[in-house]
Amino acid sequence: MGEAVFMPGTGNGLDILEAEILKSRYLREGEEDWEDVCERVAKAIASTPEEYVEFLNLMVSKIFVPSSPTIMNAGTVSGQLSACFVIPVEDSIEEIFDSLKTAALIQKTGGGTGFNFSNIRPDGSPSVSGVGTASGPVALIRLFNEATEIVKQFGRRRGANMGILDISHDDVNPFIRAKREEGKLSNFNISVMVPDSFMRLVEQGNMDEIWNAKTGAKVGEIFSEIVEGIWRNGEPGILFYDRINRDNFTPALGDISATNPCGEEPLLPFESCNLGSINLSLIVEDGKVNWDSLRETAGKAVRFLDNEIDINVYPVPEIEEATGKTRKIGLGIMGFHDMLLKLGLPYDSTEALGLAEKIMEQVTYSAVRMSRKLAAEKGTFPEYENSIWELPIRNATLTAIAPTGTISILAGCSAGIEPVFSWVYRRARITGNEFMLVHPLFEAHFKPKLPESSYDRLLEHIYTRGTLQDITDPEIVDEEEKKLFRSALDIDWKTHIDIQAAFQRHCHAGISKTINMPQKARKDDIGKALVYAWMQGLKGLTIYRTESRQRVVLSLKSPV
Ligand code: UDP
Repeated sequence: MGEAVFMPGTGNGLDILEAEILKSRYLREGEEDWEDVCERVAKAIASTPEEYVEFLNLMVSKIFVPSSPTIMNAGTVSGQLSACFVIPVEDSIEEIFDSLKTAALIQKTGGGTGFNFSNIRPDGSPSVSGVGTASGPVALIRLFNEATEIVKQFGRRRGANMGILDISHDDVNPFIRAKREEGKLSNFNISVMVPDSFMRLVEQGNMDEIWNAKTGAKVGEIFSEIVEGIWRNGEPGILFYDRINRDNFTPALGDISATNPCGEEPLLPFESCNLGSINLSLIVEDGKVNWDSLRETAGKAVRFLDNEIDINVYPVPEIEEATGKTRKIGLGIMGFHDMLLKLGLPYDSTEALGLAEKIMEQVTYSAVRMSRKLAAEKGTFPEYENSIWELPIRNATLTAIAPTGTISILAGCSAGIEPVFSWVYRRARITGNEFMLVHPLFEAHFKPKLPESSYDRLLEHIYTRGTLQDITDPEIVDEEEKKLFRSALDIDWKTHIDIQAAFQRHCHAGISKTINMPQKARKDDIGKALVYAWMQGLKGLTIYRTESRQRVVLSLKSPV
């Protein structure tokens, strides 16, 4: 790891990172800047001159940004615009390799793929031909992981996968342990799919109950394996099957048993979904939320994302068919923490919780309104009659909150609904070396207030320790500032979950979020967090204990 360069007085570094992303990922031949990119994308997606102007303005102003595959591929020969896919995996050699091929075609275009491997026979069971034995889901995941490794050499963005296994599968323990060694299955996130019946047993403390009659595994044994894995390095994630399927808007088409790689899109087999996010930081005007602007932007964004479904170039016909039936889109938000900072509200405050819920309610409400309008103009989604919607609508689901890992950098705002990781941190660059960044709203607040040497010392303090909460000099940081400038590691896990739950209440699909825990968190805390998250109605969660992995994108200054 190269030493990150600390450069006081040379800007906060975000602009350099943004330029780098634009160049390495989004600019196409003949394009020089963001406006050029926006023109290509808006032209490809608009169906009328009025829409072109509307879409161009959304993107140029960065109040709404579509997800990376759309920015990279709209108006190019690829034409593949979706970030999220779910591919079924069935238990025969032919079907397995069909799925692998479909995944490779998707990843080549920058899309992410999710699979539930539960239909695969356990390791050691007899093979269909009667010759030899089956190798089980974990071996298959290894195969899919290798395929991604090869495909990634061709694309601009590495493919990501989600590997899911039902908690009732005989191989669930080896699956949970599959990523325990760092570096293993690095192209996969893994998640256990858990029904309410299991969580209820855990909540009631029935740990000795036999969960799997065939293997004899007890509830407590499997739950401890999950907790151990998370404590060690943040995996597996957990998905709540019944909660996800309570929001299945087309139950007649089957159950939902998988999500895309970061968990925000539970989808039916072969469905794909286009994502795009509203930049909440730009919704604040004169210290207030501009609700009209939020609603208006959400409506326009729905038109944008719905248009994409018709011009999208689908990797295989099954995906075109499944996506066309339900026309799901994933409108989300980013820059939530920046919005709070601009409003002067701490992330862990009751006001923030209330605002989270209201924002998502308004976004979803406006999205539904526009989708109904589009249904009147252009027709409902073909499976509307088979859905639980009671009034004509064009899209089976409309809202989801993506991580916005790249587009939030482009838009210059905090990612998704995450709290800022640290006011000063280092980040691995696309080019491989590292970079020190200062949060722009932190800089705007403290730089003019403090003498240069004190400001530099404050930066160095946070860069080393990841917090300003332990600064004792009120001249540098006072109590009010301490409340407002709490970052990811200053916020307790319960608040992280409460915020996710507040957004989830009015979100059709799911939410990608990491529940941060301090390095000293105990396994018991992790178990409690899983139960609490289930009770709060989350569809799934990812927990990460600080410093439990060596390789991370964001970090603090290395210890000297
Ligand atoms: N994704 C992917 N590869 C990546 C990052 C993301 O395939 O390296 C997919 C994945 O399905 C994820 C979705 O894109 O859930 C959205 O991710 P994010 O919001 O971070 O993407 P961005 O649009 O910011 O690039």
